[in-house]
Amino acid sequence: MRILLAGFQHETNTFAPSKAHYDNFVRGEGFPAMVRGADVLALREVNIPAGGFLRAIGELTRELTGNEAELLPVIWAGASPSAHVATDAFERIAGEIVEAARAQRPDAIYLDLHGAMVTDEHDDGEGELLARLRATVGAGVPIVASLDLHANVTQRMLDSADALVAYRTYPHVDMADTGARAAQLLQHLLAAGNSRPLHRAARRLPFLIPINGQCTFLEPASGIYALLDELERELDGVVSLSFTPGFPAADFAECGGVVWGYGDDAARIEQAVATLTEAVVAGEAQWAVPFLAPDEAVQEAMRLSQQASRPVVIADTQDNPGAGGDSNTTGMLRALVRAGATDAAIGLIVDPDAVRAAHAAGVGSDITIALGGQSGVPGDAPFEATFRVAQLSDGRCRFDGPMMNGMDVDVGPAARLTIGGVHVVVSAGKAQMLDRNLYRMAGVEPERMKILVNKSSVHFRADFQPIAQAVLVAKAPGPLLADPADLPWTKLPAGLRLRPLGPAFAGPRGGV
Ligand SMILES: [Zn+2]
Repeated sequence: MRILLAGFQHETNTFAPSKAHYDNFVRGEGFPAMVRGADVLALREVNIPAGGFLRAIGELTRELTGNEAELLPVIWAGASPSAHVATDAFERIAGEIVEAARAQRPDAIYLDLHGAMVTDEHDDGEGELLARLRATVGAGVPIVASLDLHANVTQRMLDSADALVAYRTYPHVDMADTGARAAQLLQHLLAAGNSRPLHRAARRLPFLIPINGQCTFLEPASGIYALLDELERELDGVVSLSFTPGFPAADFAECGGVVWGYGDDAARIEQAVATLTEAVVAGEAQWAVPFLAPDEAVQEAMRLSQQASRPVVIADTQDNPGAGGDSNTTGMLRALVRAGATDAAIGLIVDPDAVRAAHAAGVGSDITIALGGQSGVPGDAPFEATFRVAQLSDGRCRFDGPMMNGMDVDVGPAARLTIGGVHVVVSAGKAQMLDRNLYRMAGVEPERMKILVNKSSVHFRADFQPIAQAVLVAKAPGPLLADPADLPWTKLPAGLRLRPLGPAFAGPRGGV
């Protein structure tokens, strides 16, 4: 038994300012850096789907055949979310995976995918990759892929793969578990052979869900995923269920939430998918999100922190680099300074020029710079001020929060600048503020702050909610409009509601 394995992850925000090029995948940027061949096997200990798959598949194939499968690792490549994946990057990485499948003739294929990739040429990047693989290996070779909870699952993806399975947590603490679930699905397919193909059912949601509303610490998502687990466990004939609420910032016809599953019994899997979809839709109003303006958020945080022994955390969600932001908008920093906040920290603000100026000037110096604001987002601008260089950093740390535990990250170089009572962690490279060590690397002890402003939407909750007095969500000017009804859509299908209980899209428009 020979199993080909590859990873290719990108979450594409078609409204974001910058594209993903091949170099972005080489560096990884918050994901592991690009690896090939036997080096992919070293991802075994990392909390990503490929890691969970690698840990599970040996035992599962030994149960099946008496021997552990031979793994044929090709490549693992991921880049920070951004606008479209450039054609060159897609063709090089997808081409390498397809060529390996052609040359190596595997018995099965596992892919670690995101599921919301849009390229310069393909609205459905994963559908394109899966379809090319299917055309290469034919119908007899099972293809299984794991997907992010933010996948925009398409008909072509469903038709081209034998099985797709998605995360069930946001923050994504079950990435490796999902890879293990993919390994189990692959074992199921291999054991059944062509004699008992799995039946599939799938349904699309009639409304988009803001990502801040998708957090599985909160209702309604926590109850929906509990129901998913229960249906999968208790209904005979149901092998696997998934629900992706979608990534509502990719302008193409199949953007949005999908419920799907696989079973040995066609009627049962139809029934399970229908039950879960009805539960998601019945709670439509609950999926809506209360957003605060920057000044409102800071005032509320200062009020709450008077009585608190723990920090109030504000999500600067509209510039989340984990969803395609450049992590350099200044609206929340302005609001902190305007309010005279003290013991407040914000991070990461990505500005290589500011980092260079800080390193050139040295600790204890004052530098007058125009910080951040380079993306040209309406309502945002560089923040011109004099900052004290409080600490310099190489920008390297190892995450020890629950989400990307054990991963080495390099956003360097970096520096901590202060203005009044506000600490600003500035870095040359991007990473979402999802681990407290990104503050510590620049000398901010997050537990000692009164206010933390994180450039993140939801992932920060895994490591920060345990130390937070409260969590607020702010809408400062940024490239990622957190309310999907604010986005200038052109390609959605007519009738899709742009937010829970929101206006319906009139229909696709030409141009663009
Ligand atoms: Zn995600």
